[in-house]
Amino acid sequence: MTEYTYDVVVIGSGASGTTVAFETRSRGLSVAIVEERSWGGTCVLRGCDPKKVLIGAAEATNFSKRLRGKGIKQAATISWTELMAFKETFVEDVPEQRLRSFQDSGIETFFGKAAFQSNNTLQVGEDILKAKNIVLATGAAPNKMKIPGNEYIQTSDDFLSLQELPDSITFIGGGYISFEFASIALAAGKEVHIIHHNSKPLKKFDPDFVAALVSLMKEEGVHFHFDTDISKVEKKADTLEISGPNSFSLRTDVIIGATGRAPNIAHLNLENAQIEYTRKGISVNKNLQTVNNPHIYACGDVAASKGAALTPVVSMEAAIVAENILGKQVAIDYPAIPSVVFTSPKLSSIGISIAEAQEQPDKYEIKSHDTTEWYTYKRTNESLALAKIITDKNTQQVKGAHFLSEEADYMINYMALLMKANLTLTDLQTVLFAYPSPASDLTALN
Ligand SMILES: Cc1cc2nc3c(=O)[nH]c(=O)nc-3n(C[C@H](O)[C@H](O)[C@H](O)COP(=O)(O)OP(=O)(O)OC[C@H]3O[C@@H](n4cnc5c(N)ncnc54)[C@H](O)[C@@H]3O)c2cc1C
Repeated sequence: MTEYTYDVVVIGSGASGTTVAFETRSRGLSVAIVEERSWGGTCVLRGCDPKKVLIGAAEATNFSKRLRGKGIKQAATISWTELMAFKETFVEDVPEQRLRSFQDSGIETFFGKAAFQSNNTLQVGEDILKAKNIVLATGAAPNKMKIPGNEYIQTSDDFLSLQELPDSITFIGGGYISFEFASIALAAGKEVHIIHHNSKPLKKFDPDFVAALVSLMKEEGVHFHFDTDISKVEKKADTLEISGPNSFSLRTDVIIGATGRAPNIAHLNLENAQIEYTRKGISVNKNLQTVNNPHIYACGDVAASKGAALTPVVSMEAAIVAENILGKQVAIDYPAIPSVVFTSPKLSSIGISIAEAQEQPDKYEIKSHDTTEWYTYKRTNESLALAKIITDKNTQQVKGAHFLSEEADYMINYMALLMKANLTLTDLQTVLFAYPSPASDLTALN
């Protein structure tokens, strides 16, 4: 056993762990980082980035379909093999590059599973790491359904690496991962099913827009099975059979389980450092310190913080952790968090919900717009483009916004800027936006 001592040891090399490591190292602290899987973590290797490459192909296909007969002769089709090879060019070099950039910055790297021996000592294989500060940035992993035949249920990691896209694919769960992957498989021309245990998928998004998205995806061919529980999966010859109560039965080639993600805490021996946790992750205060150990921090998907499990949020948490390790006492104060479902059309949301606004009619005004006939959306032949903006009646400032359209990702980012700067839509009258573009529609949303 070899013993090492550092100012900071970070466990996990995803977006959050990497941010803490670089920030603290650049300010002169001795830093080590531990990773048990591949250097880089979820977002760049098996989450946002590879997913968005696949979404790009779906967008190209859908755009060309919408313009068929309007100047485009033939809709584009997806070659899964080529698409996977293209995706791989974004992923394959990441672990090596990330490792090299740690080493170049003077961050020491340990490959293996970290586990606590005490509240300042970790074991990684044959190495013992002692640290003044320890950061838990171990992320989360897909939940495994506890039903017979669960060995046939694959995960989002597997979907993003499927060498062949089967003719029929079923997603279990009604969250954004199922919807986005379904959208990709649909654009590739496959039979797609989404099974969800209740009738309220995408529960963090506007229910009217979710209903509109579901009905558009149904028209495009996605088979939704709502209020459907699953009790077992069996292999039958070349296919898989999913069954559930009330004689539910479905044959499919591949099943992807996307029923939520659980924090990676199982092998950390948290008890050895009296670190408290719940099923949602490691319990932290506003400074992202653990309950019994102010020098042990948790951030990102593993922390039971108030922040959503999204890359910009975990990076923000990590920056706060770095500041606190460096001697500040900074409490996390989340701004309004934009989130997007990259389906076709896209769904996005920020700030307060319509239900919350309706509860306080004296305080909030809801502006609903059907923008389908607006030039921006007619030009690209979108079948539906909707917007709802919530403003404060006194100040006119934007307090929430919800979009359903191919431009919903850009629109929600404009709203994030407006909300951060406490601007009103009227304030934008004096900004010159390039025309025609989605931004030039902003003032008309007032
Ligand atoms: C399919 C998918 C799509 C997504 N799409 C988006 C998106 O479009 N936009 C967005 O903002 N977010 C998206 N997310 C969420 C985003 O990827 C995560 O919120 C973010 O990557 C979490 O970062 P993290 O640093 O907390 O954890 P991770 O990136 O998961 O890093 C944790 C690291 O810790 C390592 N580790 C765990 N335990 C140990 C241990 N004991 N010892 C050593 N190492 C350990 C793991 O191997 C892992 O590499 C997506 C997620 C998925 C799964």
